[in-house]
Amino acid sequence: MEDTVLIVEDEADVVDLLRYNLSKAGFSVLIANDGLQGLEMARKNRPDIIVLDIMLPGMDGFAICKALKKDPATEWLPVVMLTAKGEMSEKVRGLEIGADDYITKPFSPRELVLRVQALLRRLRTSTRGETLEVDVFEVNKSAFEIRLEGQRLELTTTEFKLLTVMIERRGRIMSRDTLLFDVWGYQNAIDTRTVDTHMRRLREKLGRHSSRLETIRGEGYRFNALTDT
Ligand code: CA
Repeated sequence: MEDTVLIVEDEADVVDLLRYNLSKAGFSVLIANDGLQGLEMARKNRPDIIVLDIMLPGMDGFAICKALKKDPATEWLPVVMLTAKGEMSEKVRGLEIGADDYITKPFSPRELVLRVQALLRRLRTSTRGETLEVDVFEVNKSAFEIRLEGQRLELTTTEFKLLTVMIERRGRIMSRDTLLFDVWGYQNAIDTRTVDTHMRRLREKLGRHSSRLETIRGEGYRFNALTDT
């Protein structure tokens, strides 16, 4: 599954440079040319990461970042801010409001790609080869396999996807709508009870670890890691 990066930037040449280099690096690329469109796409299109310029028509990058980070549905979304050269105050402000990294303009496209990749890797942590290890859970995406304390779980494809998403975004509250979109691919929530049904079955399969999938009343679900990695 390739990662999707959302670029929110109004300068056409910067957009072209980013699109070219990120596509070449294997990302699926989405573009928003103004702030409001950027925020909307971040919410609707569920990118894996966002590259966010500060000076934008409509709504500036700080306001977008703030809006994303205070919404439980998007707070997990990693944000790389593009800041003007030498504007230390911009960097500080960006990091204060929750941006995960920043890149100074003008930037080297190679550096930007590396930073985006590094950030995704860091947030997903301890990936060894194809395997994502989170305490007693091991997710092997290419083998469609999840092991719990070394034992392979017998999962349906949907359960595999659901548990993988929950583990990858551990510690974050995932709304039913978000899960329906990310796991089932529904644009509009048809029946959010589908999520509850699958969560119940997943919990049964997790046995004594079932409580790791926590129901957050009125909001959704959260996978809790044993230690914060
Ligand atoms: Ca700009």
